[in-house]
Amino acid sequence: MAQLFTHLQRIPLLPCKVQEARKFMRLFSISAQKACQVRVRFAPSPTGHLHLGGLRTALYNFLFAKSKNGKFILRIEDTDQTRLVVHAAQRLEDMLKWAKIYPDESPTVGGPRGPYVQSQRINLYHNYMKNLLENDSAYKCFCSKLRLDWLRNDAIRRNETPKYDNKCRYLSQVKIEELERKGTPYCIRFKLETITDPYQDLIYGPILINVAEHEGDPVMMKADGYPTYHFANVVDDHLMGITHVLRGVEWQISTPKHLLLYKAFGWNPPLFGHLPLIVNRDGSKLSKRQDDLHIEHYRDQGYSPEAVLNFVTDIGGGFEGKEHNVLLTIEELSEKFNLARLTKNSCRLDFDKLKLYNQMDLQRCLKSPTELPVLLDQLQDLVKKTFEEKLSSSAVQEKVLNPEYLTSVLMWNEDRITCLSDLVRPEYTYLWAIPDHLPLDQLPAMPNSYADILQSILEAITAISDNFTKENIVTSIKVVSKQYGLKTPAIMKLIRIAVTGMKEGPPVGEMLSVLGQDTAAARIKHALHLLE
Ligand code: GLU
Repeated sequence: MAQLFTHLQRIPLLPCKVQEARKFMRLFSISAQKACQVRVRFAPSPTGHLHLGGLRTALYNFLFAKSKNGKFILRIEDTDQTRLVVHAAQRLEDMLKWAKIYPDESPTVGGPRGPYVQSQRINLYHNYMKNLLENDSAYKCFCSKLRLDWLRNDAIRRNETPKYDNKCRYLSQVKIEELERKGTPYCIRFKLETITDPYQDLIYGPILINVAEHEGDPVMMKADGYPTYHFANVVDDHLMGITHVLRGVEWQISTPKHLLLYKAFGWNPPLFGHLPLIVNRDGSKLSKRQDDLHIEHYRDQGYSPEAVLNFVTDIGGGFEGKEHNVLLTIEELSEKFNLARLTKNSCRLDFDKLKLYNQMDLQRCLKSPTELPVLLDQLQDLVKKTFEEKLSSSAVQEKVLNPEYLTSVLMWNEDRITCLSDLVRPEYTYLWAIPDHLPLDQLPAMPNSYADILQSILEAITAISDNFTKENIVTSIKVVSKQYGLKTPAIMKLIRIAVTGMKEGPPVGEMLSVLGQDTAAARIKHALHLLE
């Protein structure tokens, strides 16, 4: 909107003739629309994995763009060559794709305002740097590392915040030429002006930070010819037509500096909004090294993009009429997105919510004819990978990897698991493989041998000719327990151990009905064999 106002101020007086006036208005409304098209960006540095904080920034920019029919741009900020991590840029883009946050313009998608990788735009920064030198907003600084270190250490010794003393701001032209002739290396610094007026943060309201009070003139171009973050970021936001900058609150302190740069260039700045800090559930700070904060970690654990996105959007608000604990698609999230509803409070992560959302998503996929086959393929791969050796017999493989069996396993467990990978945890091994050990020593003594009782169970369950349902199974087991004078829980325990190799587990009737008559019988035969 700020841009539109400036745009309006520049419009010449309306032409008098009505026809011409109409034509003018038509043209104007198109150009105003163009001027107003929302363009936002996510500008990560490729220094590691995509983190929850980064995902939140990318997502909120994306949702804002989509809710305004605008464009979402991915720009890689790799000017700090010392911190680069190989393949990190590609991985970032892949992870955004996984999360269904598709950029309209990016290093791989391309676009009209590229290149979208800063290290490929170096010449361009040099040209813009010249402008600032020419209009006296920047200067060459020849201070050696030794002097800068001395300044820093001296400030620390005096218990003051270290800051550059702007010495080279005042060098005479003669001195500059002399140092240049000698080939003294230099960087370029920006002359910070005093700030007296606040800027309007879209989320935090008026913010007044007089940077010049806290910092010396910042470096814009390093001695190696690479621009710093501040300079490249501002030049690119301008050249890429960015209308709104939504980024983490840790950048709020840089914004006044960026606004001064816009002023020095004579450019209209975008609007700025800062997203509140994300903290742990107990309010403690997140650590960048926390592995469980990487998006790849969630993907690899079997969390769905929808679950992760709903989890992230749940913490900071920004939605109109969004109920908690209702899973929304990314399209629904963008329909409900409203920047004005973003909170300023720190956002506390509640990982139980992530689990809940993933369970909801699993249940949704189970009901969807298009998503179910994908889910079954994933489960099939997971089972194959986890139980590779135990699935050696092709008959076993055929049975447990069969889509019908996989579906019944999923339906039976939909309220117990939160992630597909839960189904390959040790306590679910019995679903996929024959137990190799029976902890029968845990069972109470019985009047007859375990083998005799299991033989009767085998006969009873093989004789079920109607549906092999939990009810029919339980009825026939009860008949056997009566025959031996046993209590039902005791016989159930024996069967559970025989079939699963575990002392604890799900209700026996349900479990046998999911395994199916053949498998149940085969398991009991196998147990009898182990008992021999
Ligand atoms: N490259 C910065 C980062 O790593 C971008 C900050 C901004 O959005 O301006 O987060």
